[in-house]
Amino acid sequence: MLCAAPAGRALVCAACTATLPRLADPCPGCALPARPPARCAQCAAHPPPWRRATAALRYAFPADELVQALKYGGQVALGAYLGALVADAVVAAGAPQVDLVVPVPLAAARMRERGYNQAHALARAAALALGLDCRAVLVRTRASPPQASLPLAARGANVAGAFACAGPVAGRRLALVDDVMTSGATLAAATGALLAAGALSVDVWVAARTP
Ligand SMILES: [Zn+2]
Ligand SMILES: [Zn+2]
Repeated sequence: MLCAAPAGRALVCAACTATLPRLADPCPGCALPARPPARCAQCAAHPPPWRRATAALRYAFPADELVQALKYGGQVALGAYLGALVADAVVAAGAPQVDLVVPVPLAAARMRERGYNQAHALARAAALALGLDCRAVLVRTRASPPQASLPLAARGANVAGAFACAGPVAGRRLALVDDVMTSGATLAAATGALLAAGALSVDVWVAARTP
């Protein structure tokens, strides 16, 4: 999909996969470059609600094109490819302490428009690669404007209270999966709903992290 060279059954050839942008020394709190295992200064001052965050790729060319093709281009098969990269990153960060993988849900109207939830495609593939269960236990309680359409400072309020947990998560260690983490507001709101429902811990796994 990137260089048009023969790739067999793979969507992206091994050479292109090897050169995708990664995050050097990611902070376990926000996945941005830091000096692990210590958290960055921002995360030390304002700890995120999740236990740790892992991103497969840096959201930069050409990873951004792959994510956009998955999200807006109908290329749902890229969920399997990027989800496997998420699983690789999770393993590289240490043995995952997770019982259940949960995708960030789409609002009903957007789901009808798109026909699939890209986060669910990623979550399913990552769970499969790691031998874990995947269940869509989160629901959107209301539609909210796309986060990408709003300034960073407005994103927390946009998604506050937008999620509810509709499945049994009490006492379970969860991984919450989304395509891109930017401000982290969506993931924080969804993590809050899972913790309120009794989840023991929430880790955040994303395909790409905006620098
Ligand atoms: Zn290639
Ligand atoms: Zn951090």
